[in-house]
Amino acid sequence: MKPSDLAKPFVLSYPAYVPGRPIEDVARDMGLDPSGVVKMASNENPFGPSPMAVLAARRAMDQAQLYPDGGCHALKERLARHHGLSPGQFVIGNGSNEVIEFLGHVFLNPGDEVVMGLPEFVVYKLVAILFGAKPVEVPLVAFRNDLGALARAITPRTKLVVVATPNNPTGTANSEAELLDFVRSLPGSVICVVDEAYSDFADRPPDIRPLIREGRNVIGLRTFSKVYGLASLRVGYGYAGAELAALLDRVRQPFNVNAIAQAAAVAALDDLKFAQSCVLETRKGLRRLEAGFAALGLEFVPSQANFILARVGDGKRVFEALQRRGVIVRPVDNYGLPEWIRVTAGTAEQNERLLTELAAAVR
Ligand SMILES: *Cc1c(COP(=O)(O)O)cnc(C)c1O
Repeated sequence: MKPSDLAKPFVLSYPAYVPGRPIEDVARDMGLDPSGVVKMASNENPFGPSPMAVLAARRAMDQAQLYPDGGCHALKERLARHHGLSPGQFVIGNGSNEVIEFLGHVFLNPGDEVVMGLPEFVVYKLVAILFGAKPVEVPLVAFRNDLGALARAITPRTKLVVVATPNNPTGTANSEAELLDFVRSLPGSVICVVDEAYSDFADRPPDIRPLIREGRNVIGLRTFSKVYGLASLRVGYGYAGAELAALLDRVRQPFNVNAIAQAAAVAALDDLKFAQSCVLETRKGLRRLEAGFAALGLEFVPSQANFILARVGDGKRVFEALQRRGVIVRPVDNYGLPEWIRVTAGTAEQNERLLTELAAAVR
């Protein structure tokens, strides 16, 4: 028998995650100098990593012969202070993507349903499929998660319902009032996952801690990949009631988060000035991109995140034209938005470059 004859059926039909293309890749393909290629495709921080995090990571390298603290004690203590919760309410992952996988390990049986927006961050769908569960996708309305429709999609088979706010790839947010009402209306058999990967960039991100205090089945997910600029180190976390956090903690590999990442994450939380200035610059960048899109006659979706959707006609064609010109953005046809591209807000210089190349690409 071939290995594929032995594999679980859903592995064979498992869709691949298509990441933003690395700069080196594109430069090689297009015959460009990598130093002239700009990546605005993966919502990374264009201002680099927090400098304090880099120092801490360098120091942690001196102890690289030791296994990391699998319990992430220092990071949980620091996060507890940051959020006003207790260390036992956190679960740390190799990126918040890994926490999504923990949710699958703990809760998803074959045949269970996971309710999510359409489109919403694709990893939720992938993890549902990986565990033999069924993704139930509920169309957004005006690019926003429709919480009423999400609630109506819940059945006795539903285990998880996902609300990413701000959502990826749309950048739209739900208000605190509507989110709290939604979670309070859920049956006790459902866990609500609130993905807050971009909440640092939002004007008024919902505070879900009252729900946690009330004992609701809810978990917030955060990441160090975006505003803290540590995407390559892979560290993110969930926060919830202590019982839910402990269940998720049980299924992780003993040393899932390396010591360099743990040290960098602790230091990044101390680097308030860096995060604040990144948020300010990102907002300025979004305003500039909006003005530039408008000047080109392109529709856009006002964003609460660090990226923005622009309607360019044939998204795939414009993505390729931009790539030839050394600017990498994200086509979103796989999210059901073939006329759009998603652009990460860059530095002032990167934003100008994107707008110049885009003007040529859409002409
Ligand atoms: C970027 C992103 C994440 C973060 O992923 P990491 O694994 O922490 O890098 C999570 N959720 C959404 C919606 C994202 O866009």
